Amino acid sequence: EFGEDLGSEEDLKPRPPVVTVMGHVDHGKTRLLDTIRKTDVASREAGGITQHIGAYQVRHNDRAITFIDTPGHEAFTAMRARGAKSTDIAVLVVAADDGVKPQTIEALNHAKAADVPIVVAVNKIDKPGADPTKVRGQLTEYGLVPEEYGGDTMFVDISAKQGTNIDELLEAILLTADATLDLKANPNQPAQGVAIEAHLDRGRGPVATVLVQRGTLHIGDAIVCGEAYGRVRAMLDENGQNLDEAPPSRPVQVQGLNSVPSAGDNFIVVPDERVARQIAERRQARARNAELARSRGRRTLEELFKDLEKGEVQELKLIIKGDVSGSVEALEDALLKIDVGEEVSLRVIHRGVGAITENDVTLAAASDAIIIAFNVRPEGKARELAEREGVDIRYYSVIYQAIEEVEAALKGLLKPEYEEVQLGTAEIREVFRSSKFGNIAGCVVRSGVIRRGAKARLIRDGAVVADNLEIASLRRFKDDVTEVREGFECGIGLGAYNDIKVDDVIETFEMREKPRA
Ligand code: GDP
Repeated sequence: EFGEDLGSEEDLKPRPPVVTVMGHVDHGKTRLLDTIRKTDVASREAGGITQHIGAYQVRHNDRAITFIDTPGHEAFTAMRARGAKSTDIAVLVVAADDGVKPQTIEALNHAKAADVPIVVAVNKIDKPGADPTKVRGQLTEYGLVPEEYGGDTMFVDISAKQGTNIDELLEAILLTADATLDLKANPNQPAQGVAIEAHLDRGRGPVATVLVQRGTLHIGDAIVCGEAYGRVRAMLDENGQNLDEAPPSRPVQVQGLNSVPSAGDNFIVVPDERVARQIAERRQARARNAELARSRGRRTLEELFKDLEKGEVQELKLIIKGDVSGSVEALEDALLKIDVGEEVSLRVIHRGVGAITENDVTLAAASDAIIIAFNVRPEGKARELAEREGVDIRYYSVIYQAIEEVEAALKGLLKPEYEEVQLGTAEIREVFRSSKFGNIAGCVVRSGVIRRGAKARLIRDGAVVADNLEIASLRRFKDDVTEVREGFECGIGLGAYNDIKVDDVIETFEMREKPRA
């Protein structure tokens, strides 16, 4: 199946890091991707015609780095929404003359939610008014502490326009990869990977740029990509060169599929085309079913909590959007204070002021998060998108309602609900004082059964005088027994609890898991 490297540790070989460039609009993502590509002499000398296939590879100090060439985090998020992990490192571009902006924070949260390490490129340092120090200060507040301040995030001041410090940025990417990731893959297995972009070409039919993640893709391989299948007829790289094979981390444009897959679809190589077709057809059927299921009802908070309970999700991720920053902060504070025990953690992966955007929804879908909307509504196509992606948006206008609901759901569904089941009662006829065992109640069982180890409470004159007790010892004559039934006499010890009197009633019960609806 997908996602596993075959073989043993020795079969794994180092592979290049795969990098996505993210950041606020106009901060220079596109320009940076162009500049990086142009500074790579090796690919220029290849002499081919530059193709924009959605990803490219450059070399730095004899090591390769793969860049996903679709700036912005839309592609990144769209892929994650489909469960594809395509990126090892995120380069966060921040214009030094403009500083940290809302989309900078969004991008940062996307990367964090995906557990992807970040390298910060402080761009446009050629411009008057550029203030790279200010950018460092601003990002520090969001947990990205520059190495020079003792943190572990590398910041590189660059000018994408003038080509300043591009080598240093590439160096920082490799250093970050080496320090935080152990990027390896087995090149000697059937290839697997992810589609980065795809379209229908008039002359060539469906073409898809895929990133090989493990194994090596060869001409002639039978592949399934999402619901598309076929045989690899031709492979082109970003310089328009034909390739015969593509190793791990190499992006290639593939021809030979029968239809156009979606960005984020995984691909696998299978033994032959017949198998490929079978898998693709099964997926098409499953997709139709999923569509049906979605049309019948969205995934609810309760369902998510069920997943939490089954251990399929350990973390409840929240996105908080509100009308004013004060309410967002108050809500976040209060939500994070909810005691949900140790089984699950609550994590706010993004918060912001204003309407719910499509980006919020894709982030939620990608991270399996719930959106908590405080006095705000989805804008534009965000509502539609949420419905399509099955993203749960909860609307509130009173903070405590939001808190109560999240808390109730967490408590109610995480910990199974128990109900008390009465086992029996015993009346104390005599009290024996034993220095060794504490006081022993000489009882007659009035109803049901008294069981050793069961929970107990003590009732005097119709009122509970002690609760949370336990039938610590139970004897008939000189024998320890496990239970005594109605009508029989027995000696009951309540452990350390000694305040017992003749005519008190010991009531025992146990907690049983409530059958859930
Ligand atoms: P994107 O929206 O993040 O992809 O931003 P672009 O790459 O399209 O850049 C936005 C504008 O900023 C364009 O006019 C670029 O030429 C300009 N720009 C990008 N990088 C630099 C830089 O380092 N210095 C200067 N002066 N301008 C830059």
